[in-house]
Amino acid sequence: MASQVRVRFAPSPTGSLHLGGVRTALYNYLIAKHYKGQFIIRVEDTDLDRNQERASEMQLADLKWLGLQWDEGPDIGGAYKPYKQSQRLDVYKDFANQLIEQGKAFYCFLTDEELDKMHSHDNRQILSPYRTMAHSEALEKVNAGESYVVRFRNDAQEELFSFNDLVHGDTGLKGNMVGDFVLLRSNGLPVYNFCCVIDDHLMEISHVLRGEEHLSNTLRQVMLYDAFGWERPKFGHLSMILGANRKKLSKRDDAVAMKDFIDGGYLPEALLNYVALLGWSHADSKEKFTLDEMIQDFALDRVNKSPAMFDRDKLNWLNHYHMNQKSSDDILKALVMLSDKYEELEGKWFGLFWQLIGHQFNTLKEVSETLKLFETYDLRDKELLLGEGRQVAELFLNCLKDEDSMNEAVFSKITSKIGSDLSVKGKRLFAPIRVSLIGRQSGMELTVLAQLMDREEMLKRVTQALG
Ligand code: GLU
Repeated sequence: MASQVRVRFAPSPTGSLHLGGVRTALYNYLIAKHYKGQFIIRVEDTDLDRNQERASEMQLADLKWLGLQWDEGPDIGGAYKPYKQSQRLDVYKDFANQLIEQGKAFYCFLTDEELDKMHSHDNRQILSPYRTMAHSEALEKVNAGESYVVRFRNDAQEELFSFNDLVHGDTGLKGNMVGDFVLLRSNGLPVYNFCCVIDDHLMEISHVLRGEEHLSNTLRQVMLYDAFGWERPKFGHLSMILGANRKKLSKRDDAVAMKDFIDGGYLPEALLNYVALLGWSHADSKEKFTLDEMIQDFALDRVNKSPAMFDRDKLNWLNHYHMNQKSSDDILKALVMLSDKYEELEGKWFGLFWQLIGHQFNTLKEVSETLKLFETYDLRDKELLLGEGRQVAELFLNCLKDEDSMNEAVFSKITSKIGSDLSVKGKRLFAPIRVSLIGRQSGMELTVLAQLMDREEMLKRVTQALG
């Protein structure tokens, strides 16, 4: 591994962070931390048409929520600042001029209509007729105010560009997969591939680890490294993540945006653990990790070439595990992050709740669903309070009135009495009581409820149920 590992996660602010982005960020973070290097955030925001307002802030907030703290970035600066490409435009312009002067890039005056025609006549990538125009002639047109883009002159149509991919091993990309590609748009702004190479070089990035969909970009970027005479970083391309339908995971298939995972009640620990396993496996087949353990054990040579499959059940299983590694206080804090209504919840009561039934939940959302049973009373299964059911509930109410507190022993004393007085047992005894207490015939063990709900609340609810 290079003496100094410097890796970056370089999101474009075009939307929210998705599962694939989380994995790219995590793997880069793990390599950085494993080799005691730096993890850098760079915002790639030169495509004004695709930028979305606040997307960048949200992406960074998501990374923070995950706990993937960066060493250099737009908000905290660093020795290679600025880390937002829109603030580095002068840098790119200078390098574009350098390539133009060396004849490795050129001004291209093709109009949109001409380009459309070229595309429809020839499916190959565009080689522009302006690639051979004399520099002085082109400059005259530029100075006369003609609209232009700057293109890279790809003279390597027949060449094979080879590199040793960190994931896929020896990889060769033929030069004719791309044409004379654009470096500066007609509005003067540089394109991703150009900025990316310049920044990766200037920021001394050692490893570029990103999704497989960037392979054709890597070809363009390799050409640029060669044109500048710069040493290439090591490239690694992560395989696709497939949805349950075995197609590339898309927003339609399942929740894949960070917001959905956060709102869905997943813990950052669990999401990171799960995402780590989307393409990487531990040498000992271990599956449950903390972030520190992942830093310790992560190795690129165990990153898988074949596509990974998104598996909600496995995510739930890991979330269940990580939730149960936490104290009730920490779970309560996590609930408060989801909704400030949980600030009202008494820690001691929640501690008992968690001790009694914490092991039942896969997500915080499930926890909050169950907590709703205590927040409001919604009498759903009313029909169970007719006939014999009503008799059971009435006797339950009378017995409650004779008591001055509630606990498991009191509860079982009351139910034994109802059972023998009315000769009912099992569901006939318990369903009406449960309905009168939580409004429905399922949702919580009565022995648990007896410890979590006080007598006054029970009195209020049963009275209302019978009202
Ligand atoms: N801005 C690119 C993206 O969001 C980054 C690709 C790269 O890592 O080079 O996909």
